[in-house]
Amino acid sequence: NLPMVFFVTPTKRRPEQKADLTRLGQTLAHIPNLFWILVEDAEGPSDMIRDLLDRLKMTQTSAHLAVSTPEKMRMNASDPNWKLPRGVEQRNAALEYLRTNHASWHRGAVYFGDDDNTYDWRLFDEIRKINRVGVWPVGIVGGLIVEAPIVASNGTVTGFTAKWKPERPFPIDMAAFAVNLSLIVENRDAGFSFDVPRGYQESHFLTSLKLSRNDLEPRADFCSKVYVWHTRTEKAQLSKKDLQRTLDPAQLS
Ligand code: UDP
Ligand code: MN
Repeated sequence: NLPMVFFVTPTKRRPEQKADLTRLGQTLAHIPNLFWILVEDAEGPSDMIRDLLDRLKMTQTSAHLAVSTPEKMRMNASDPNWKLPRGVEQRNAALEYLRTNHASWHRGAVYFGDDDNTYDWRLFDEIRKINRVGVWPVGIVGGLIVEAPIVASNGTVTGFTAKWKPERPFPIDMAAFAVNLSLIVENRDAGFSFDVPRGYQESHFLTSLKLSRNDLEPRADFCSKVYVWHTRTEKAQLSKKDLQRTLDPAQLS
């Protein structure tokens, strides 16, 4: 009776998507009691991802959803990727899915794992250990080699090493925390929003769960270990023809 890990991944169609999801899927396929909620930023679920889940033998331990980012919030390929919030609609769809389908799992932790990050297997043990909300360091993010909560000798979180917008209520990355599923179920309006300043999605979400800094449980050996890195996949420079090919659903698988 290992607690469940609900791993939520918003994912956008782009030339590197299949490579990123193959690497992530081959990490997740080895983790016991993990349920992968993949939410495509698309009109409908793609055959490419359905076939990948099938090859990974994860069809029974995953949900494959799709919801498009609204037109006016969608970015162009040439936009810098921080221009607009990413994954808002998709993560909210995953939260609704959890409330509808998994509300009875009171020993479950929800984690937001983007498709291009790097995850050490040891992260999943830490996710399972949380009571309400766990936090840990993230490598290569916010202009730092490690961004981490600061933990006092009595084991409480007293601050953060963040250099970028340290004034945020929770100056941490999406990969830096997990929350108990019961919080998602109890706070039905909690979620992500387009109406939030850049860098404030994490703070907005944790606040919507009525959490405060005092609630943070430091994990990963009192936040001294790095088990997740905010790696980013370089955008491929492709000819128009190849770009068109990768965006055509029929060519994806
Ligand atoms: N994403 C999405 N729709 C978008 C852009 C991104 O669903 O329009 C997904 C993407 O696949 C990733 C997550 O949202 O899983 C975060 O995006 P990205 O990795 O580009 O952001 P960053 O690394 O800058 O946090
Ligand atoms: Mn990323």
